[in-house]
Amino acid sequence: NRRILLAARPVGEPQEADFRLVEEAVPTAGPGHLLLRTLWLSLDPYMRGRMSDAKSYATPVEIGQVMVGGAVSRVLASNHPGFAVGDIVEGRTGWQDYAVSDGTGLRKVDPSLAPISTAVGVLGMPGMTAYTGLLTIGQPKPGETVVVSAASGAVGSVVGQIARIKGARVVGIAGGDRKCAYLTGELGFDAAVDHQASDFAARLAAAVPDGIDVYFENVGGAVFEAVRPLFNPFARIPVCGLIAQYNATGLPPGPNLVPSLMREVLSKRLTLRGFIVSDFADQQAAFLRDVSGWIRDGQLRYREDVAEGLETAPKTFLRLFRGENFGKLLVRVAE
Ligand code: NDP
Repeated sequence: NRRILLAARPVGEPQEADFRLVEEAVPTAGPGHLLLRTLWLSLDPYMRGRMSDAKSYATPVEIGQVMVGGAVSRVLASNHPGFAVGDIVEGRTGWQDYAVSDGTGLRKVDPSLAPISTAVGVLGMPGMTAYTGLLTIGQPKPGETVVVSAASGAVGSVVGQIARIKGARVVGIAGGDRKCAYLTGELGFDAAVDHQASDFAARLAAAVPDGIDVYFENVGGAVFEAVRPLFNPFARIPVCGLIAQYNATGLPPGPNLVPSLMREVLSKRLTLRGFIVSDFADQQAAFLRDVSGWIRDGQLRYREDVAEGLETAPKTFLRLFRGENFGKLLVRVAE
């Protein structure tokens, strides 16, 4: 059983040396437990937070513990009445070939809905983040302008397509021409703006002539600074992620912008609301019904970026913070 452990707490950008691969015997399932074979490992930005011991909404991984992560697995042995050998399940079973589980937090995956890898992607945690954050906090109305950052990614691509389905005008922010062309060409976004362009702020302003009614925040940092002057009165801002800031070791230089931001929050009556997808666990059935329906009838597409082999997980994970992934980042661990 190959397992990838947290070897050191990163300072700034994580390094491959912050992880360690060990080999152990394949475990056995005791009474009430299941033995799982990992098939797909999901790599997600939140894992950066778990590598750090800074105060957060979740407890960190300890040094020497297996890295946390969502995975899709096959049940190899079951002493649990709720699961049978051969079932496909999804759960936070970590960066390892095999896992033993007592069933807590495991969800059976219906392979007839879509390829099983989607259980950690468009039909899993990232898709549900997009659905719940956009619809519950963003509440886009037909004709409104919705802007989403990290727009070609696992969460952002679903946000933009749901906003389009709800009748909004959708503008995506992404890094590079290829990702921008994908947004307008394949996902039906009305416009896409490259945040790497030197005149990014001006291009963004030109892409939202009627201002911004909903901004789905995945990035923070310089992207937020370009978005901020464009909010309309009563704009809603679901604060989902701040990936540009996850590797920061201190505050950026420059003036304190909090007082002017607070003045805008007041005068424009902005709603900024942070959320964690688990806040909306009661929406899971509605999410699965709606999003799998949109996939089936061709209204919603998804893209996966697949690396081969568990041993590649550390270096693959680092790609998230360099914008090198194009679509939901996954590792194929076994067939
Ligand atoms: P993505 O598939 O979108 O991959 C991350 C993308 O972020 C990169 O491809 C890159 O896109 C962009 N990015 C990385 N660094 C920077 C930077 N410095 N400046 C600008 N853009 C950058 O990841 P996910 O869809 O899984 O996650 C998106 C966001 O959602 C993250 O912030 C994540 O933490 C958050 N999230 C929050 C959840 C919640 O419950 N609140 C749950 C799940 C995710 P590009 O090349 O286009 O710049």
